[in-house]
Amino acid sequence: MDLSRFPRRRYLHGKTPIEPLLRLSERLGGPHIYIKRDDMMGLSAGGNKTRKLEFLMAEAISQNADTIITCGAVQSNHCRLTLAAAVKEGLACHLVIEERVADSYDPRSNGNNFLFHLLGVSGITVVPGGTDMMAAMEEVAQSLTRNGARPYIIPGGGSNALGAAGYAACAQEILEQAFDMGVSFDAVVCASGSGGTHSGLLTGFRGHHADIPVYGINVKNPTDVQTALIAELAEEACALLDVPPVQKDAIRCLDQYVGPGYSLPTAGMVEAVDLLAKSEGILLDPVYTGKAMAGLLGLVREGAFSSHENVLFLHTGGSPALYAYTPLFFDHWQKEDTLSTSVR
Ligand SMILES: *Cc1c(COP(=O)(O)O)cnc(C)c1O
Repeated sequence: MDLSRFPRRRYLHGKTPIEPLLRLSERLGGPHIYIKRDDMMGLSAGGNKTRKLEFLMAEAISQNADTIITCGAVQSNHCRLTLAAAVKEGLACHLVIEERVADSYDPRSNGNNFLFHLLGVSGITVVPGGTDMMAAMEEVAQSLTRNGARPYIIPGGGSNALGAAGYAACAQEILEQAFDMGVSFDAVVCASGSGGTHSGLLTGFRGHHADIPVYGINVKNPTDVQTALIAELAEEACALLDVPPVQKDAIRCLDQYVGPGYSLPTAGMVEAVDLLAKSEGILLDPVYTGKAMAGLLGLVREGAFSSHENVLFLHTGGSPALYAYTPLFFDHWQKEDTLSTSVR
């Protein structure tokens, strides 16, 4: 696997750290849990889309684009990071926002929505849930083209074969770090959404003959739908990167942590976000990493790993969305009677 063949912009400051989660591991009675801090990167607040954007923005620039169009949900980290990358490159950026939960778009809401405006978005088009997002972006592209712009469309989540190359690069980075640390990882756990992260990791490990199981914790889809999505993306990424195909039985997608739906809270997510903050001082997010960590906790509790194994949790970012969910956490602490404020 030779990633140097692809044009790439650089938004990371070298490798993101891998840290042992000593207190969490101790609390659970093993396995040895490590975290890869892909929440710590360049651009605004970091997150997994940054790795994909290194390749996608390079392609946009090589095609002489002057405007980026992309899409996402109302609190999309992908939209925030794509916009930040466009700002850095001196390009305009137009967002198409899908209201996946009816009436959930509040133009003045906090979190990533606030950051869209702070970062100077060129335009936001809000469309109802279930809209064909590629068609909606193409419509925007046509109207911008009529006005003389040269748009480049990045698919939702930056998840196509080229975006997945960013996570094949991450797999390579993880193997280098494991070698340097003298640690061998027995499993990787990550959130599985639009799929570029999960399929890119599988592709990258395959490209290095590293047979590390990757557990994708679904954040939206049932297992059969997500497995098919990951299989298709991994096939395309393997073809692009000239890597032998990923085995079908290596694709593990777990849907029991999704709860009522994408971005909708679960008790397990609240527990996981709370636990990581209070045991490790690390902020997760309510839509992706909170549910992914609930998945890791679930796997540990059902005995999926032995106590001496090394498990790597991929922190894919997203903490700005946390600030759009604060009432949920205050209610939880109030119910638990752990709101430790005394006002005199
Ligand atoms: C987009 C996103 C994911 C999911 O990654 P995919 O490549 O879309 O599967 C996970 N975590 C965060 C914080 C994200 O923003």
